Amino acid sequence: MKKVAFFDLDKTIYNAHSFFQLVEHEIEQGRVKQKTWEKIQKILSDHESGGLSYSMATNMLLKNFALDLEGQKYTNLLEDVKEFFMKNLQNFYPYFKEILPKLKKTHDIYIITANAQFVAEAIVDQFGLVGFVSSEFEVEKGLFTGKVLKSLANGKSMVLGILTKFGKSDSIAVGDSENDIGMLELVEFPICINPSEELKNHANKHNWIVIDPNQATKTLNNILDQA
Ligand SMILES: [Mg+2]
Repeated sequence: MKKVAFFDLDKTIYNAHSFFQLVEHEIEQGRVKQKTWEKIQKILSDHESGGLSYSMATNMLLKNFALDLEGQKYTNLLEDVKEFFMKNLQNFYPYFKEILPKLKKTHDIYIITANAQFVAEAIVDQFGLVGFVSSEFEVEKGLFTGKVLKSLANGKSMVLGILTKFGKSDSIAVGDSENDIGMLELVEFPICINPSEELKNHANKHNWIVIDPNQATKTLNNILDQA
């Protein structure tokens, strides 16, 4: 019976905030309006100055991105996003590629991200993973409607449904920020990579593993050897 491993995307396996990179890329491609970049910068600065919580800011960012995609074809964007990550493979932390062959033997691997489904789908495809839980932009008859159907900005506890099928034993979750707490607290091995201050405090209180990306191959190897 296979076990399960959950990975957050941005700053956990990918050393950047792919949301902003992608919006910038889609502005270049003409899929997102230049004006949206200014709105996004405003939301980001309001968040950084403490005026907007993480979840409020993330929901607003998703909303603005989704709005510009209205009427565009889902498969076109997905292909473009796949290409984008292919060109940016150097941004993935080496540990993730290093651990995959061994981890795949015992664990089904899921990407858990507040990014939209075409981002998660591209990563799952790129690395041959099993699935994902993500925010979701509404698509009807293959076209984006401009609406956000589901947001993971308020936490990731909805991985419980997947976890229940596998069982908690030897389950692994890897994250970097407070939005990951909801999934980290459900598994047997919660791993925090370069955690934000808020996650670090929480991790220390609960004796979770806190490491930097350079140590992650070793840490995951040790877990797999004892599992
Ligand atoms: Mg992250």
